[in-house]
Amino acid sequence: MVELDVAGVAQASHTGTLPPRDGVSLALRAAYDHALAHREGAVADYIPVLAEADPEAFGLSLVDVTGSVHDIGDSRVEFSIQSISKAFVYALLCDAVGHEQALATVGVNNTGLPFNSVVAIELNDGHPMNPMVNAGALATTALIPGDSPDERWETIHRGLSAFAGRTLDVDEVVFSSESATNQRNRAIARLLESYGRIRHDPDGVVEVYTRQCALLVDAHDLAVMGATLADGGVNPVTGERVVGAEVARDTLAVLAASGLYERSGEWLFEIGLPGKSGVAGGLVTIAPGKGAVGSYAPRLDTAGNSVRGQIAAAHLSRTLGLNVFASTPRTAPPVPEVAP
Ligand code: GLU
Repeated sequence: MVELDVAGVAQASHTGTLPPRDGVSLALRAAYDHALAHREGAVADYIPVLAEADPEAFGLSLVDVTGSVHDIGDSRVEFSIQSISKAFVYALLCDAVGHEQALATVGVNNTGLPFNSVVAIELNDGHPMNPMVNAGALATTALIPGDSPDERWETIHRGLSAFAGRTLDVDEVVFSSESATNQRNRAIARLLESYGRIRHDPDGVVEVYTRQCALLVDAHDLAVMGATLADGGVNPVTGERVVGAEVARDTLAVLAASGLYERSGEWLFEIGLPGKSGVAGGLVTIAPGKGAVGSYAPRLDTAGNSVRGQIAAAHLSRTLGLNVFASTPRTAPPVPEVAP
C-alpha cells in the first residue's frame, strides 16, 4: 500500500454528524494540500487512452447528506468512472432482485487477487465471488433486468445518472480504446458462461460493462453518488430515491470488504470507511449517515488505487472523525436521575 503519510494527524473521535460548514471546508482544504504534495504512483496505461491523463490533475469534493457541497481543485474535470461503476450497478441489481438473490448469484467475499483475475474464478468453482472484481461485475451487469443488451444498458445509464443527479455521457474514445483491448474481460465472460453463471451472450454483456466503465464523471459527481449511498439511497441534492435503504447498506458493506482491489483490508484498517476506486484515478469514500468524498487524481498505486485520493481520504477520515470503527470510552458515568 502507498505510504498514507498521516501518522501525525490526530484521529478525531467518531461522531454522529459532520462539523459545521466552515470546519468541513477547512478540513477539505487541509486534506487537499496534504495530498497534493504527493507524486508517487503511475497513470494507468493498460487501456491505451487512459495513459493520456494529466498526472498532476487533482480534484476533491465532499457532499453531505443535507446536499451541502464543498469542491476544491479539479473537481469538475471529467474522467471515465471505470470500476467505480461496479458499486452503483451492484446497488441497482440489489434493488431489482433483492438481498438474497444478489448474495447467492454474485457473492460478497474478497478474492485477495487482482480485479481481473481468471485464477480466482477457477479457484472458486466458477463463482464470481464479489461484484467489485471483473468476474462479479460482469455477472452483475448480466443480471440487470432487461430483454436485450440495449435494455440493460438503458437501466444502468438511467440508474447511474440518478445517482449523480444529472445525465451522464459515455466517453466514446475510452469505450473504443477499451473495446479494442478487453480480450481478458471477454475471456472472463466466456469462462463464467461455461460455468452457467452468465446466461446471455457474453460479448453483449462485456459490451454493456465496457460502456458503463466509460461513463464520464467528475469528483463532484462521485461525491453526490456516494452521498446517495450515505443517505439511505436518496440523492441528497435532487431528493430522488434511487435505491432502497437496505440496498445502500448492503452495497456499503460490500465496498468495505472489497472496494480497493487487493488492498481493501489495508484501506479499511487505515481509513475505516467503505470506498471504491477506479483505474482512471477516481475514488469515492462514503461516511454512512454523513456524506461522501469524491476525488480524481490519476496516479495509481500498484493495485490500481489513486494515491492522492487515498491520502486525502485518510486525512479526512481522521480530522472529521469518520472512521466507523473509532470510539472513545464513555468515561463519565451517566448522571442518576434524582426524584424531585
Ligand atoms: N474497465 C476496466 C476493466 O474492466 C475497469 C478497471 C478498473 O477500474 O478497475 O478492466
